[in-house]
Amino acid sequence: RGKRAFIAGVADDQGFGWAIAKALSAAGAEILLGTWVPALNIFETSLRRGKFDESRVLPNGGMLEIAKVYALDAVFDTPEDVPEDIKNNKRYAGASNWTVQEVAETVKADYGSIDILVHSLANGPEVTKPLLETSRKGYLAAISASTYSYVSLLKYFAPILNHGGASLSLTYLASERIIPGYGGGMSSAKAALESDTRVLAFEAGRKHGIRVNTISAGPLRSRAAKAIGFIDDMINYSTANAPLQQELKADDVGNTAAFLCSPLASAITGTVIYVDNGLHAMGLAV
Ligand code: NAD
Repeated sequence: RGKRAFIAGVADDQGFGWAIAKALSAAGAEILLGTWVPALNIFETSLRRGKFDESRVLPNGGMLEIAKVYALDAVFDTPEDVPEDIKNNKRYAGASNWTVQEVAETVKADYGSIDILVHSLANGPEVTKPLLETSRKGYLAAISASTYSYVSLLKYFAPILNHGGASLSLTYLASERIIPGYGGGMSSAKAALESDTRVLAFEAGRKHGIRVNTISAGPLRSRAAKAIGFIDDMINYSTANAPLQQELKADDVGNTAAFLCSPLASAITGTVIYVDNGLHAMGLAV
């Protein structure tokens, strides 16, 4: 049997999640997606109308097939956590069973188990504010959406992740180096995510035989990155200063994800893998 992957955080064909879906699909995996509830309608409509058909083409000439798209809001773990204003929000009204626990239950009912869990989502409402100007609410929201969302996904999916399975998230260098402009507590959220990667590798490794890694990706012009506002500067900086002076492609990250989730990486866990043309290793721009 081929492997089955659940990828959380895909709502268009521009980000890392989509590229990871393609690389895993090209390697023979069955693809399930988790899409943020407010973005679900337009994503499914675009898929159905063929808007992504060109970017669905795989290197081997096949097409990315998506077995099922699940509505997901990774900020809520169980139905009891959902406040009234969200319940009554019309962007949420059309979907159901989208808390993390319910999505895991639905995937279990539909497919029984999975082999690969990918977390490719983040959100920081105050990301454009410097840390010194970030509110407590904004900081905690960044950690909730970008870090605890991963702890929660792994918690609820671990019981249906097959022994020998792999789990992956996406992080950014701002966790360990000063990147002015990556604010709102997002740098803190990524630092926590990398630390959690180590602790979860231990806990999920011992308990479930699951590997846990994170990819520290270079800059990519995704929808989320454009919202931060300085993505073009980051790409230009990287091209000017990284050891490899080429623009990062989403597929570079997709291919690394496929490797990390494959038996080729069966002894790799608890690590941060840099897919950034080497920029993280520079100490002085030349
Ligand atoms: P993206 O916009 O393609 O992906 C982010 C996704 O998160 C979106 O689909 C959005 O709908 C989803 N999302 C937000 N809040 C959610 C929630 N509460 N529940 C479920 N889904 C939610 O952008 P991307 O840049 O590909 O981001 C993917 C990951 O890569 C993120 O963790 C991001 O921090 C990381 N990353 C991005 C860059 C970059 O330059 N683009 C660099 C390093 C790391």
